[in-house]
Amino acid sequence: MSLLGAAEIRALALELDLKPAKSLGQNFVIDANVCRKIVRTAGVTPSDIALEIGPGLGSLTLALLEDAREVIAVEIDNRLAELLPITVARHSEKSESFTVINQDALTLVSLPKEPTVLVANLPYNISVPVLLHMLEIFPSLNSGVVMVQAEVADRLSAKPGTKEYGIPSLKAAWWASLSSAGTVSRSIFWPIPGVDSKLVAFKRGPQPGDEALRRKVFSLIDTAFAQRRKMLRSALSGVYGSSALAEAHLSKAGIDPTLRGESLLIEDFCAIARIES
Ligand code: SAM
Repeated sequence: MSLLGAAEIRALALELDLKPAKSLGQNFVIDANVCRKIVRTAGVTPSDIALEIGPGLGSLTLALLEDAREVIAVEIDNRLAELLPITVARHSEKSESFTVINQDALTLVSLPKEPTVLVANLPYNISVPVLLHMLEIFPSLNSGVVMVQAEVADRLSAKPGTKEYGIPSLKAAWWASLSSAGTVSRSIFWPIPGVDSKLVAFKRGPQPGDEALRRKVFSLIDTAFAQRRKMLRSALSGVYGSSALAEAHLSKAGIDPTLRGESLLIEDFCAIARIES
């Protein structure tokens, strides 16, 4: 197995006459050591079926193939998806353990096999929806590490009461516990992005309720954070008919109606959603 460095990435890009598309978040990792570090941080084992979203030219894919039993990669860009099996065959003896799916990850509903770990350098403009979608549709995903824009990483792993805490933190917490897993230098990308990147690790936990509850909870979260600075009794007044009714509902759920959404844990939103209105 040989991994891709700056020279190989340049050669592959030349082969495709590739102009990285900003709209698809195409910043490719040119440092093999960073790829190995990401895979190690994710704790990928030989029994894992790894899911990678946005494999690009294959930097992380090849590092994943070193440790995982299988790698399934989902890439939206036709040219990249076509070149990837060729790159894998050139650099790895495990090409039979590799599958590429040429599709928009946000439209994915199933895969040929149940993935156990998600490892990805996500396209930055859609990183949160992609992560939430994967957690939702693949219950077999036990853990993972994703590289995202630093600001988004801070939001995903934020704790209540901080300015970073909000919709991504709460919705991700429905599925998993998330933690910061390190910073990545801008210089390991081609082209160099205009923002810093960080790694976020997640471990799936028990879900706090069924699908009906999740829908109610996610809708309450959206409403509470649509007017972030408002107290809950006022932010949720439209849901329960009036501020007084919202206050009564929140009190019944054991939640102080004068709090803001940013102080609540996912369990608190579940308590609110469980009370019949
Ligand atoms: N994993 C590669 C690496 O680390 O060098 C590339 C990462 S690059 C930040 C993001 C990749 O996601 C690109 O290859 C891009 O084409 C792909 N991508 C963008 N939007 C996508 C989508 N909706 N579904 C699947 N792949 C997508």
